[in-house]
Amino acid sequence: MQFPAVQQVCVLGSTGSIGVSTLDVLARHPEQYSVYALTARERVAELAQQCRRFTPRYAVVLDEGRAAELRRELSESGVATEVLCGVAGLCQVASDARVDVVMAAIVGAAGLRPTLAAVKAGKKVLLANKESLVMAGPLFMAALTESGAQLLPIDSEHNAIFQCLPYPCDSLEAAGVEKILLTGSGGPFRNREVEELENVTPDEACAHPNWSMGRKISVDSATMMNKGLEFIEACYLFHASPQDIDIVVHPQSIIHSMVQYRDGSLLAQMGNPDMRTPIAHALAFPERIDSGVPALDLIAQGRLDFEAPDETRFPSLRLAREAIITGGSAPTVLNAANEVAVAAFLDGQLAFTAIPLIIEDVMNSAEVVELTGLDVVELADREARNLAEEALQRLRKAGAGSGETPELRSM
Ligand code: NDP
Repeated sequence: MQFPAVQQVCVLGSTGSIGVSTLDVLARHPEQYSVYALTARERVAELAQQCRRFTPRYAVVLDEGRAAELRRELSESGVATEVLCGVAGLCQVASDARVDVVMAAIVGAAGLRPTLAAVKAGKKVLLANKESLVMAGPLFMAALTESGAQLLPIDSEHNAIFQCLPYPCDSLEAAGVEKILLTGSGGPFRNREVEELENVTPDEACAHPNWSMGRKISVDSATMMNKGLEFIEACYLFHASPQDIDIVVHPQSIIHSMVQYRDGSLLAQMGNPDMRTPIAHALAFPERIDSGVPALDLIAQGRLDFEAPDETRFPSLRLAREAIITGGSAPTVLNAANEVAVAAFLDGQLAFTAIPLIIEDVMNSAEVVELTGLDVVELADREARNLAEEALQRLRKAGAGSGETPELRSM
């Protein structure tokens, strides 16, 4: 296969789990890809190490203090990488004219502006940062159409669905699709007694049985809000209605999702649970490159199991479905409240089982508006965060910050 030229890649969130896996894949193909920019929030030592290895043109951190620290480290090692900072720096590298591919792997709402900047600049965007699509779906998809950017899903489930659909696919109906089956492992608490969930610790919640991921998405997997966010993400990415998508629990994470066709065919994409597969797929699409992931050994695997999801144990699934059906800013509110509640749980301030209570409380109180612009999205996000902080304070005042899950609305 002949590749036209070396592709310049910007990795947003390069020090995270997806960022590190992306660099691993890129390092296997130096003749095809060159690292143009790397970014982090605060892990300066890790970013400096990546700069020494990949010598990017730019590195970006969140504030001036850390930028000064990074410049010092790089000059001591004789690395000529230019250091930028803040959201402006992130947007600059994401939309730089010399960049061909942007890996959007910042976690949470912080990824919205830089990811959108890459979309507006018409880049090939590899989307790991599902929160940006969930919080601003209609704007995001409109920007995509306007700029002609190419959006390739990195979430293993969406990457699997993408692989099981014809390309391009603007209409599921026209493609003969009856259902999208979005699979999820059920996380670490699939079989835990419901009464025990109240006292689980952040470390237990982050110990995913199949995947090694950052802490926020690990907690989302444990509450199954990750599947809820993915449900919303799939609606936008595949022009699907909520009725087009069923969630199927598949504990082994070998099938990454499926597409059921009108003629009775069910197409599945399978592979070992390693994010380097969807990363390599999206990077090289429509070609295929080596990802470093060993081939799946089906005989050793032996069996594949499937179950229906339990929405009593995992109310986040219901909340996410309600949010996308409501539309407008409801998914923005869901995402913001979830980020605040998960951060409080990781900080030891909130019981695991209170996470969906906070989200539901915020969804019941927040005003739902039409998303007419980025400022409206950011306002809805801010207001939902404030409501979530207020709900947390009410819990703390009631002395129930952790260990109890009282009815928030009655406080
Ligand atoms: P990590 O927490 O491991 O990494 C997050 C990255 O974003 C780090 O580089 C971090 O920098 C940076 N970052 C965090 N906050 C900010 C901020 N405010 N401004 C700028 N940069 C910031 O997350 P993951 O790699 O696990 O996940 C990244 C995204 O990919 C998420 O949206 C997640 O849902 C999605 N995803 C992840 C999967 C996985 O397997 N990990 C699978 C599918 C999707 P620093 O290191 O300095 O804190």
